[in-house]
Amino acid sequence: MATSIELKQIKKAYGDVAVIHGVDLTIDPGEFTVFVGPSGCGKSTLLRMIAGLEPITGGDLLIDGQRMNDVPAARRGIAMVFQSYALYPHMNVYQNLAFGLETAKMPKAEIELRVQRAAEILKIEPLLKRKPKQLSGGQRQRVAIGRAIVREPKIFLFDEPLSNLDAELRVAMRVEIAKLHNDLGNTMIYVTHDQVEAMTMADKIVVLRSGIIEQAGAPLELYNNPRNLFVAGFIGSPKMNFLNASVEGTSLKASGTEIALGRDVSGAKTLGIRPEHITLTEGSGVKFADVRVDLVENLGGQTVLYATTSDGQSLTIVLEGQRSVELGSMVSAYLDPAKAHVFDAEGTAIR
Ligand code: ADP
Ligand code: MG
Repeated sequence: MATSIELKQIKKAYGDVAVIHGVDLTIDPGEFTVFVGPSGCGKSTLLRMIAGLEPITGGDLLIDGQRMNDVPAARRGIAMVFQSYALYPHMNVYQNLAFGLETAKMPKAEIELRVQRAAEILKIEPLLKRKPKQLSGGQRQRVAIGRAIVREPKIFLFDEPLSNLDAELRVAMRVEIAKLHNDLGNTMIYVTHDQVEAMTMADKIVVLRSGIIEQAGAPLELYNNPRNLFVAGFIGSPKMNFLNASVEGTSLKASGTEIALGRDVSGAKTLGIRPEHITLTEGSGVKFADVRVDLVENLGGQTVLYATTSDGQSLTIVLEGQRSVELGSMVSAYLDPAKAHVFDAEGTAIR
């Protein structure tokens, strides 16, 4: 039932400025795919090309195997939800939801049915008679999603739909959208620059940079096996530590310490260690640095240390639970060699 999407060497240029450089991607039926990447990397452009709101300047877009490049937006079976959703201020929620269907000359009874069903799914039935100005930000965003649902599209596209909401509401709506996907089972693409949203919502994360895909895969695949420095630094919070490294003989040396990783590290220039993979306890790994503790954040469930190695590189350490660590104290940092990441001069992961 659900719909597949395939991008084959998709390109976009505005005049002679190329912004998408040949993207290959397969999205399986019913998959929840998240596009992440820094501002300006091409997330919206890619989404708008899939939706048919922006001409594709190269390559093929296939939906369920059919080439869609030249099919108008209205006939692609796609509904899109934007960050800035303009609801009609003079219409109530019911009318906002029904408007698009009325324009399409759908019979009144069918419209009523669809609006009712969408309102149920989104739990906005009590709000149907209200005007947008009588709604909270989260309720308004729900109505915007409702306008997509009533169209009963094959594919939902979301372009940073939660960016305007405050932190608490974002988390709540994030859960709502994940539930919506579970209930409807449609193929969905969700754009965000928030990597926590990406990690928690996605079946597949697509990391974009400057109009190319750096890596695509399951969230934990990207977390465990980032292909390069960019993905390693982008996925995970707080972000991965990077220490300058060199190879002496067969072992890796970083911040003055020889580190036995027990695998081939030839060509290594950078050692990557996630803050949550560092311990201060001897016996639970290999010592890789002596550090000075500059700042301690007690979060209750975790303790975050900001430290500096003896050769002046910064290191973030996340410890489980509550620890009393003195500011300015020197501590030894240990890592589990299996969880260390090593990168060559080009920033490519050495596996
Ligand atoms: P993102 O959504 O990832 O922040 P966009 O897809 O909006 O990025 O933009 C990708 C690149 O395309 C940016 O460099 C942006 O400046 C450029 N761009 C977007 N829209 C236009 C346009 N209409 N004309 C020219 N350049 C554009
Ligand atoms: Mg954008």
